[in-house]
Amino acid sequence: MPTGIEFVPWTNAYILLDDGGRAHVVDPGVDGERALDRLLDALDTIGAAGLDGIVVTHVHPDHVGLAARLRAATGAPLLLGAAETSTTEPEWRDGAGRAAALETWGVPVDDRADLAAVAPADEHGRAPTADTALRDGDLLPIPGRVVRVLETPGHTPGHVCLHDVDRRRVLTGDHVLPRINPGVGLGGGFRTNPLAAYLDGLERIGALDDHEALPGHEHRFRGIGTRCAELRDHHLRRLAEVAAVLAAEPDASVWSIASRITWSAGRGGLRGFHLLSALAQTSMHADLARSERLATLLACRSGGAPPGDR
Ligand SMILES: [Zn+2]
Repeated sequence: MPTGIEFVPWTNAYILLDDGGRAHVVDPGVDGERALDRLLDALDTIGAAGLDGIVVTHVHPDHVGLAARLRAATGAPLLLGAAETSTTEPEWRDGAGRAAALETWGVPVDDRADLAAVAPADEHGRAPTADTALRDGDLLPIPGRVVRVLETPGHTPGHVCLHDVDRRRVLTGDHVLPRINPGVGLGGGFRTNPLAAYLDGLERIGALDDHEALPGHEHRFRGIGTRCAELRDHHLRRLAEVAAVLAAEPDASVWSIASRITWSAGRGGLRGFHLLSALAQTSMHADLARSERLATLLACRSGGAPPGDR
């Protein structure tokens, strides 16, 4: 399904057929009349006898957007991760939480006005009410198929992956993508550090290495264990960098840490929304670097280059 978003021009909507030939769609994509026509055409083309369920991995608009319109058009129920039903904008993205975050992160007063003026992304908070809240281990109500719900918080608080047990496939939503590095903490309402939860989820999904991955964007792929390890190492490298700054200066602010670690665009290249996002990412890494889990996590790195070598 086309998204109209430059960075991720397509969302993969998956149609699972049950043993009666009826369809269950996973992640219908962005909202719109044309999108609805496109999806209904696809159901027609494959000869689906009707639509019996709309399952959504997480509430970003490029996944859940069409769900309400599709439900209204077909009467099919919407199934969504239980923790996802309360996902809102991350606190640092909206006006009220922004000022507090900038202060907590130690942003110098002179730099705050620019960052306070960045428009909120307004991506969340518009998720339709689910008819069924999915919990870890639940089986999707798809006759003749065994598809298990795996809670994988991190990208958003209630993100779920779907394990098609018999066909040995995992629908990974935005938890694991073949080339793009999924953002972490892109929703408010996390009860624990989103990064810690994300790393745990990578370990869990990576264990299904003999399965085929069907991601929310880009292309299906094999080697999910390797891909999960790459994504873990990416975050663990950054965690090691942040830990090194904190070892030298335990009270360093998020702003100060962010100015001393590696950014692909260079720290000077980060402005506006990207700088806000970088600070939020740094804050998550700093919280984890200050936690008891640091030593265990860094011991799990699988041979990525140490921070100074890149
Ligand atoms: Zn997403």
